[in-house]
Amino acid sequence: MKMMNAKDMNFSKRLNKKEALYLLQNVDLYELGELAYKKKLELHPEKITTFVVDRNINYTNVCCIDCDFCAFFRHAKDSDAYVLSFDEIGQKIEELLAIGGTQILFQGGVHPKLKIEWYEELVEFIAKKYPSITVHGFSAVEIAYIAKISKISIKEVLQRLQAKGLFSIPGAGAEVLSDRVRDEIAPHKCDTATWLEVHRQAHKIGMKSTATMMFGTIESDEELIEHFEHLRNLQDETGGFRAFILWSFQSENTKLKLKHPEIMKQSSNKYLRLLALARLYLDNFKNLQSSWVTQGSLIGQLALKFGANDLGSTMMEENVVSAAGASYKMNQDEMIRLIESLGEKPAKRNTAYEILQKYY
Ligand code: SF4
Repeated sequence: MKMMNAKDMNFSKRLNKKEALYLLQNVDLYELGELAYKKKLELHPEKITTFVVDRNINYTNVCCIDCDFCAFFRHAKDSDAYVLSFDEIGQKIEELLAIGGTQILFQGGVHPKLKIEWYEELVEFIAKKYPSITVHGFSAVEIAYIAKISKISIKEVLQRLQAKGLFSIPGAGAEVLSDRVRDEIAPHKCDTATWLEVHRQAHKIGMKSTATMMFGTIESDEELIEHFEHLRNLQDETGGFRAFILWSFQSENTKLKLKHPEIMKQSSNKYLRLLALARLYLDNFKNLQSSWVTQGSLIGQLALKFGANDLGSTMMEENVVSAAGASYKMNQDEMIRLIESLGEKPAKRNTAYEILQKYY
């Protein structure tokens, strides 16, 4: 492909979809990175790169959504299906506290039988016993299902969990916000409108969230840009997204790879191009995370030159993408070293992106 020079183009003040497609497909990688880095510095002139010390807790691996791209879930009758007890969850939180952690990223499985009361008890148990821990949990897919099985509205689920101590919700389950793609890779997952509605309702009750994208299955570039457009529009409307996180499909052990053997591992080039484009297109998002968990620590570091200003989590525990083949690990010291060696200033943050500790 012949790469073009972005300098010769006359872009709108706010990128439109056509321009975004042009940047993604035609502009030289380094130039795209430069544009994204410049945009990042406008928002983060101090060159501080943050990270959070947290732990993923997958309270269950039982799931009735059966996404073809997922190697993590089990059905209730499988021999290795589990639902963690509150004591087991407490034990994991204590291990996190021991390393100075502040957040748990709490996600299932979408368990077919658990109703709102179980989730209320769970959040209340954590909030009361571990008041210094922030619960960032339950994807839009889980929230929509809890509403359905409990026969209450999405808004009520969010309000009831917020009342018990749920602080924010993660952007998981977005994959690509295109119903054509969702119908093919995860036909039982909530549709685009529902994913957006859960986040809209959360933002309306003052609960912030994050947004994500998983690329590299069967989507077109146009559909990826449509995804950005949905997020930018909702952010214009509510301002409730704290960050955007992008990762590539991990195909090992998945049904989707068997169904679509033509799906290839995504290149670092595509990841970095999309990340840079996200920084340029999502002009109303302050924070962009690098996904070192799926890209490896060195591309994760390089992502800081392509628009990312946050390295995400130190990931004391991760079960979902590791089930599909991504097995990178990083501790806090390594993260600090990676940030420093790129000429940026490392800092530990909380879920709200407030700085807790500087390492410079
Ligand atoms: S991605 Fe989430 S919703 Fe889909 S099958 Fe896996 S655990 Fe269930």
